[in-house]
Amino acid sequence: VSISKDMTKWVEEEMAFREETRKDSLTGALTRKHGERELEHLFASNGDNGPISLAIVDIDYFKRVNDTWGHATGDEVIQLVATAMINSVRSTDFVVRWGGEEFVIVMNQCSLASASIMLERCCNAISKISHPKVGVITVSVGLAQKASGEMPHELIKRADIALYQAKAEGRNRIVKSD
Ligand code: GH3
Ligand code: MG
Ligand code: MG
Repeated sequence: VSISKDMTKWVEEEMAFREETRKDSLTGALTRKHGERELEHLFASNGDNGPISLAIVDIDYFKRVNDTWGHATGDEVIQLVATAMINSVRSTDFVVRWGGEEFVIVMNQCSLASASIMLERCCNAISKISHPKVGVITVSVGLAQKASGEMPHELIKRADIALYQAKAEGRNRIVKSD
């Protein structure tokens, strides 16, 4: 009995550990590796059964935060932004830490119009953060809906082009890819 209890405990701990390693330790978002895997699975299982939308979110003028307040404060900002996003999306969506201060949000069964509303909610939550040193933080967002037969890297590319446009148009905005 005691061996089987030990085994159960070991299995539980092992599963919790695996779940933890899927997540980035600073933000609780999925790591890029696991995000890419989830995206591949989603595309493989979806066929063309329902809309999939994807957003790339990048913090505005983040280098200034690091330069003015240091890397540790930069990390705090990244963590706050991630938490605001994770708390704003649906439980079926996933937030991925794509790069340093850049995140991908994948929304299954979500049209571009619905995704746009959801991202407005995310941006709203982020704008309410007000870090004690840094103050208000904004992000720019590139948003795209999967086209029929489109591959993950092609969808990401379109979202990235929309993000670039959001930056070029002055930041603190969402640009949709058509
Ligand atoms: P933009 O509005 O155009 O996005 O300007 P930006 O200053 O935010 O530029 P960019 O997105 O290229 O900034 C990336 C910076 O983020 C560069 C790097 O020093 C910093 N960075 C990347 N990863 C981390 C991290 O994990 N922690 C901290 N503190 N900084 C990071
Ligand atoms: Mg940035
Ligand atoms: Mg960036």
